[in-house]
Amino acid sequence: MKLMKIMWILLLFIIIVGLFYPLVGWIVPVLMIILLVTAFKRKRYFCSTMCPRGSFLSMFIRTKRASPKLFHKTGFRLVILLVFFVLFTLRMMRTEMILEQLGLAFVMICLASTILSVILGLIYSSRTWCVICPMGLVQEGINKIKK
Ligand code: SF4
Repeated sequence: MKLMKIMWILLLFIIIVGLFYPLVGWIVPVLMIILLVTAFKRKRYFCSTMCPRGSFLSMFIRTKRASPKLFHKTGFRLVILLVFFVLFTLRMMRTEMILEQLGLAFVMICLASTILSVILGLIYSSRTWCVICPMGLVQEGINKIKK
C-alpha cells in the first residue's frame, strides 16, 4: 500500500519529463508488462498496489458521486477498449518506429488518458476512469482465463 501512495510521482515524471525526453515514455510499456504479468497473480493486483494513475487519482481527487451505470456494462467497456486500441495503433503508425517517436507516442497516450481520467474524476468520483480503463478490463480478462 505504501507504494501506491508514491506511484503518482512516476505518472507526473512520465508526462512532464517525457515531453522533453521522449525515451522516458518507454516506462509505459514496461508498466503494461508488469500489469499483464501481475494479473495472473490476482485480479487487478496492479490497480490496487502500484498503478501510477490510480495512485494519482486517489491522492488528488476527492469527489464521491456515482459513475454512470453505462460505465459498468461489459459491452460499453469493450467498446472503450476497442476505441483505445484503434487510437493506440493509429498513433503508433505515425511514428516510423523510431525509438524516440514511439516513446513520445506512449507519453501522449498517457497524457490524454490522464486528462480524461481527471475530467471523469472531477465529474463523478476519483476513480471513475478505473471503471472503464482498458487495462483494468484486460486484467479482468486474464484473471478469467487463468481460472
Ligand atoms: S483501472 Fe487502469 S487506471 Fe485504474 S488503477 Fe487499474 S490500470 Fe490503473
